[in-house]
Amino acid sequence: MLRSEFIKRSLAGVTALVLAPNLLLEATERKSVSKSKKHTSHSGKMTLSWYKYDLSLAHTFTVASYSRTTTPTVQVCLSYDGLVGYGEASMPPYLGHTQDSVCAFLSKVDLSGFSDPTEIDEVLTYVDSLSEGDAPAKAAIDIALHDLVGKITGTPLYRMLGLSAGKAPATSFTIGIDAPDVVREKTREALGKYRILKVKVGRDTDREMIQAIRSVTDLPLVVDANQGWRNREQALDMLHWLHEQGVLMAEQPMPIDRLDDIAWLTERSPMPIFADESVQRLRDIKRIKGVFSGINIKLMKCTGIREAWRMINYARAEGMRVMIGCMTETSCAVTAAAHLSPAVDFADLDGNLLITNDLYRGVTLNDGKLVLPIGPGLGLTKL
Ligand SMILES: [Mg+2]
Repeated sequence: MLRSEFIKRSLAGVTALVLAPNLLLEATERKSVSKSKKHTSHSGKMTLSWYKYDLSLAHTFTVASYSRTTTPTVQVCLSYDGLVGYGEASMPPYLGHTQDSVCAFLSKVDLSGFSDPTEIDEVLTYVDSLSEGDAPAKAAIDIALHDLVGKITGTPLYRMLGLSAGKAPATSFTIGIDAPDVVREKTREALGKYRILKVKVGRDTDREMIQAIRSVTDLPLVVDANQGWRNREQALDMLHWLHEQGVLMAEQPMPIDRLDDIAWLTERSPMPIFADESVQRLRDIKRIKGVFSGINIKLMKCTGIREAWRMINYARAEGMRVMIGCMTETSCAVTAAAHLSPAVDFADLDGNLLITNDLYRGVTLNDGKLVLPIGPGLGLTKL
């Protein structure tokens, strides 16, 4: 049965649905969190609104190619019949999107042709057709629509996808590139909260980073080179050394245009090699099949839950492993990704834990394991 049909049938069975008061959410945003003029476009029964919001990072975040202390986002609300679905576009600078480009895209969206939000595929196919790129803006609408439909049908998102909340994995916690004493301190702070750490590598300090962590803990590690390694023989030596240090997998070891070198590396690597920057959307998987062992799916890269779900299933069919990651995001987009996490091998969903001005409470952690909220849709509570 198609998901839309399932939802419609579910709807038919809940015509007497009584909505809890806390689900009847306000149609306007709290002024205290709005940092820009609020925009609204009325489209039949569905109303899309949005505002710009800058995330403050708890620590300066450094990866192989840049550092930053804030992340720009655009927060989205999709209102329908007294219910509000929440969505979010997060724009780390390296992907080239801005708050203005997201707002410009959202201004183009005209949902007046859709009277039934539960026709998720119809709505999102239209949204995707409006431009070639704009993945974060499309993801914001996709997330808000799934949240809204979950609220309409009284169904948590993981259940809409047929997944089991109890299968949600532990998330890794990311430690950025830093001086050894800072790395040791961050590692100590993570102890007792996380079961797996993700370490940013890709510079000439990689061994010092790992040794600093290993001086504090023997927790399993994964590494992310963010395209930082340039020589495949040196990268292979490093992978063997990392394997001896208890590293389970490596993400994006070399630049995206070095597919032949990455394929060479993957063939010889003692651990699985995952694509991140090399894979954005469903169509990219075919190109990197045989080059990487697995893919890192992020909602902001792939336009949202609908496409992420397709990518998970396509990658599985091709025998590839799957991880789900995030940008620095509020608990809105991180929780949306967490609802998909029972279907993946690794979860790297700590983006909401790296900021000091979250807007929602959603997915939480228990001994490092993701705990999905059981409320309908994303199950968010506004803070
Ligand atoms: Mg990565």
